[in-house]
Amino acid sequence: MRLNVLQEKVSIVTGGSRGIGRAVVEALARAGSHVAVVATREDGARAAAESAAGHGVKTMALAADVSDPADADRIVQTVTEELGGLDVLVNNAGITRDGLLLRMSDEDFDRVVAVNLKGTFNFLRAAARVMVKKRSGSIINVSSIVGLIGNPGQTNYAASKGGVIALTKAAAKELASRKVRVNAIAPGFINTDMTADLAEGTREAALTMIPLREFGHPDHIAEAVVFLASSRSAYITGHVLNVDGGMAM
Ligand code: NAP
Repeated sequence: MRLNVLQEKVSIVTGGSRGIGRAVVEALARAGSHVAVVATREDGARAAAESAAGHGVKTMALAADVSDPADADRIVQTVTEELGGLDVLVNNAGITRDGLLLRMSDEDFDRVVAVNLKGTFNFLRAAARVMVKKRSGSIINVSSIVGLIGNPGQTNYAASKGGVIALTKAAAKELASRKVRVNAIAPGFINTDMTADLAEGTREAALTMIPLREFGHPDHIAEAVVFLASSRSAYITGHVLNVDGGMAM
């Protein structure tokens, strides 16, 4: 039904090698977009890019650390030159380093903020420089409901994801006059490597907080990304879309 809604568009997906990002790469390619996959490990990025190429689009795999602004600038420039532009950026790369506040190390706080928040800023700024010139573009930042409602043991992660939401709204207001849209998605609990190690007790406790009574699938997030990337959401900017089984309502 939504086949080809992104025909001939060019997208960058950070953290596209696994989990949610991998599902996003597949969904964008299925919708007709050329896709550049970014991850720290090139082999993972390459596997995702090769799979997405099966949908008949051009793909690229690029190794980078999103927390490094030079990497963001290099990747946006390379993709723009080699794939012929940039229409969609999905800031999805993220990490957790959980720990109770009283024992949280400076290093764990700083690294999570560097990857999740500064990494999002680095790619947002680099992509916006290209998009404002052609007066179009859609940027989707993957936050978390933890950035809205908090979570014990995740002060670093919650701060980074709350920051992503504030960053999204400020950038949306700044870029709207140039027709560049910026939105966020706030996933709840999604079955990926990130949630694979949850203790059974924690998983059960989480399920009681989810009205739909199940963890989400990466495809649930990918569907929302395709909607926000395409012209079907042309009048939506600065929005935070919860995809969480009703958890944060
Ligand atoms: P995941 O399975 O752990 O995958 C993380 C991805 O990010 C991998 O592709 C990884 O690539 C990449 N990555 C990590 N650090 C990076 C860095 N410094 N530079 C570039 N790439 C980096 O995670 P996920 O569960 O799919 O989560 C994806 C996003 O959704 C994250 O932002 C996460 O916070 C958010 N989220 C997830 C959930 C959930 O329940 N899973 C809920 C809410 C929000 P490498 O393997 O090469 O390092």
